[in-house]
Amino acid sequence: MSRYLNPLYKDLIPYTPGEQPQNRKYIKLNTNESPYPPAPGVLDAVNREEAENLRLYSDPTVMPLKEALADRYDVRPENIFVGNGSDDCLNFAFMAFGADGAAFADITYGFYTVFASLHHVRADIKKLKEDYTLDPADYRGCGKAVFIANPNAPTGLSIPVSKIEEIAQSNAGHVVVIDEAYVDFGGESAVPFVKKHPNLLVVQTFSKSRSLAGARVGYAIGSEQVIADLETIRYSTNPYNINRISMAAAAAAVRDRAYYQANCRKIMAVRQYTKDALEKLGFRVLDSQANFLFAEHPDYSGKTMYEQLKERGILVRHLPGKRTDNFNRITIGTKEQMDALLKTVEEILNS
Ligand code: PMP
Repeated sequence: MSRYLNPLYKDLIPYTPGEQPQNRKYIKLNTNESPYPPAPGVLDAVNREEAENLRLYSDPTVMPLKEALADRYDVRPENIFVGNGSDDCLNFAFMAFGADGAAFADITYGFYTVFASLHHVRADIKKLKEDYTLDPADYRGCGKAVFIANPNAPTGLSIPVSKIEEIAQSNAGHVVVIDEAYVDFGGESAVPFVKKHPNLLVVQTFSKSRSLAGARVGYAIGSEQVIADLETIRYSTNPYNINRISMAAAAAAVRDRAYYQANCRKIMAVRQYTKDALEKLGFRVLDSQANFLFAEHPDYSGKTMYEQLKERGILVRHLPGKRTDNFNRITIGTKEQMDALLKTVEEILNS
C-alpha cells in the first residue's frame, strides 16, 4: 500500500478471481465458463467492419442491445441496464441501494462482501442452514437492500420465485437484487415479477449460458426508476462501459436463443451424469441447478483434491472457508471433459 492511498480504501480486501492460467493447458473447470463456443450469429457479428469501427466510441445508450433484451424478456428498454459483466451491475447496485446496509448469505458469491466493503455498505450476513439451503424468512422485512444469488454460488442450490416475491413484498422500502447468473441451467427466473414489484432487480449475464465470459456483458432488469438510478451511477463513472464488439456480440447472442437452449440442455444432462458418477465414488454432491457441482469427499480435504487434480492437469475451484473448505466447485464441461475428470478422481482415490 502506498502512503498516497485514500484511507477509505486501506482495509479493502479485493476479490480473488479464479485462476486463468496462460502457461499450461488445463481442463478448465474452475470459473463456470461454457465449454461451447458462442453462437454462429455472434461469430458473424464480431467481424472486420466492427473492428474497423473501434476508432469510434461505443453507443453510450447501449440501445440496440437493450432493445434486443427488452424484446426477449417482454419489458421496455427503460427497464434494462447493461453493465461490463454482471459484476458491474452488482457493483453499481451496492453503490446505489446500500445506504441502509445489505443482507446476503455467508456462503454466496464472494464479490458481495468486496462491493459492500468498497462502498462502505454495512453487511448483514445471513447464515445458510446446515444443509446449505437459504431460509427466506431471514430476509423478510429486513430493512435493508437484499442480494440473493439464485441459484446460489458455489452451492448451486435455488429457492422458488414465490419466496423471492415474498422477500420483495416485505421489503418494499428497499431494493431486492436477485443475481441470476446461473438461472438458465434449470432455475426459475424472477424476471416476470419485476412489473409487479418496483423494488425487484434481476441481474443476469452473458458469461455463462451464452458463452461470452470474455466479452464482459451483464444486465439488470427492473422498474424504470431503479434502472434510472443505475444509469445515473453509470453516467457518473463510465458511460462507454460496453465496448462496440461486445455490444454486437451480445445482441447477436440474444437472437440465437435456440442454440444456447440446446447447450444448456446438454450441460444439464452432463451435470446429472457427473453427479451420479461422483456419488458412486463416495462424494457428497449438492443438488445443483447451475453449470457446476459443489462436492466433498469424506476422505480428502477439498484443498488436497484440488491440488492433486491440478497436478494432473484439471483445474477446479477450491474456496477456503469454514463451511466450504472440504468442497470443490466443479464446472460442468463437455461429457469428454467430465469423463477425464472422473477418471482422474478415481486415480487419486486409488493412489
Ligand atoms: N454472479 C455470480 C453468482 C457469479 O458466480 C458470477 C461469476 N463469477 C457473477 C455474478 C459475475 O459474472 P460476470 O461479471 O462475468 O457477468
